[in-house]
Amino acid sequence: MQAKAFMRDMILSELEDIVGVENVSTGDSEMLAYGVDYFWIGRMWADRGQKLPVPEFVVRPKSAEEISRLLKVANYYKIPVHTWGGGSGSQGGALAMAGGITLDTKRMNKLIEIDEKSRTITAEAGMVFQQLEWYANERGYSCMHIPSCLTCGTVGGALAHRGIGIMSSKYGKIDDQCLQMEIVLPNGDIIETLPVPKHAAGPDLNQIFIGSEGTLGIITKATFKLFEQPESRQFRAFMFPNLTEGLAAGRDIMQKIKPSIMRLYDEAETTSIIKKIIDVEEKGNFMNVALEGIRRIVDIEMEILCEICEKHGGRDMGSEYGERWYDNRITFFYPGHIMDIPQMFGTMDTVSDYKNAEKIYWAMKNAIESNFPGVRFIAHCSHWYEWGTMIYDRFILDTPPQDPDEAIRLHNQIWNTGVRAAMANGGVINDHHGIGLKLSRLMKEQYGPAMQVFEGLKKSLDPNGIMNPYKLGL
Ligand SMILES: Cc1cc2nc3c(=O)[nH]c(=O)nc-3n(C[C@H](O)[C@H](O)[C@H](O)COP(=O)(O)OP(=O)(O)OC[C@H]3O[C@@H](n4cnc5c(N)ncnc54)[C@H](O)[C@@H]3O)c2cc1C
Repeated sequence: MQAKAFMRDMILSELEDIVGVENVSTGDSEMLAYGVDYFWIGRMWADRGQKLPVPEFVVRPKSAEEISRLLKVANYYKIPVHTWGGGSGSQGGALAMAGGITLDTKRMNKLIEIDEKSRTITAEAGMVFQQLEWYANERGYSCMHIPSCLTCGTVGGALAHRGIGIMSSKYGKIDDQCLQMEIVLPNGDIIETLPVPKHAAGPDLNQIFIGSEGTLGIITKATFKLFEQPESRQFRAFMFPNLTEGLAAGRDIMQKIKPSIMRLYDEAETTSIIKKIIDVEEKGNFMNVALEGIRRIVDIEMEILCEICEKHGGRDMGSEYGERWYDNRITFFYPGHIMDIPQMFGTMDTVSDYKNAEKIYWAMKNAIESNFPGVRFIAHCSHWYEWGTMIYDRFILDTPPQDPDEAIRLHNQIWNTGVRAAMANGGVINDHHGIGLKLSRLMKEQYGPAMQVFEGLKKSLDPNGIMNPYKLGL
């Protein structure tokens, strides 16, 4: 016991030596703040007074050099390191399941450069994304990464989870927008990816670390594209008679023009959430589209959009409902609108090609609603590509079991059922929330023998397995 306490003090003093006494916390109350992210199970534990998965130490470094020294210490003592950005992730990715160190990046929040010639912006990875966007806006630009977590997620968190913003259909995901990164490897080496993202000098290093969820290294700096603010942004809403026609219209739109926002709601979500927030009375499948850019081009695209929707039986509802949707884009997450504890819920977040999208939707809905009486399934397509779409599919149970173990068992059964129905029909388990702890067990099922590529990388970069254990199936 004495030896254990001695070793703990020894580690503490090494951490304090690197980041300063004031930047290491061990107090119980502070640990609790790092015991819950947006993962349902963590929040349920907190709600029901259960013990939370807290770290032993929280450290707040201010540079890549300090992180490098911290990782060397962690490797020496073989202590787990969990990187924490904003703690807004929904997959339990930042939770310290194995105790050890939680490394909060938010002191690393400096703007490094705006390069107006190349139209890029570079910042430290602990900066909250809203701050980066404000810096871009000051020069008349935007990063066009506008997720609903803009004010609570960090630059590093968005990269680590392959995040996406509401304008993605035109401006891409974070992995399209990021040009270069600095990363501290588990052994403490500080590396940079190549200065430009398009080259034939081997595989793309950026894409090895984007989405790696703190399991292969810690992202400390990143450069992103900057976009001009659009001269014109115009909205149009439509009501489709069914999902088949709505999806066909969405596909045609993406393959001919590029809207910035396009959301298509299933009937259940149209008659519940859309009715409540946007005040749409009609039944059907509501779609909201935003077109933006140079006004003359947008005017022509608007004509094409209306032609496509008419062809698929979409009733033109004009611009007002679309504008209302945009004004309320964060209201969707306010209490009273978003599902919340004590309900049990999950956003399964499936991505698929167009060939399989509708089949996946029905397979998931039928599997969940028929196997779990009382569980509702609603969905909308949020993010679109030339080849397919993301299904923002959610299950909701209003009165889950009170016993935490029973609740977790049911939660995992619903997830397994929904996600396996998606995979069996050609879907991929996640578009932009990441894997974290929530889906870790399903990574091998998703990848099959291809999983050995990630396992090999993990083994060679992190032989002591200290980086964010139990996440991403690694
Ligand atoms: C209300 C709400 C709305 C949301 N809307 C969206 C949305 O529109 N789009 C979207 O993509 N997501 C959304 N999310 C999910 C979440 O906010 C994002 O995944 C966000 O990018 C996470 O950032 P974070 O800084 O909070 O990461 P954290 O939760 O702190 O960490 C997430 C993961 O990234 C790792 N990580 C964090 N920083 C680093 C780093 N510097 N280097 C390496 N690994 C790191 C962590 O270890 C963890 O595995 C939403 C969440 C909420 C609560």
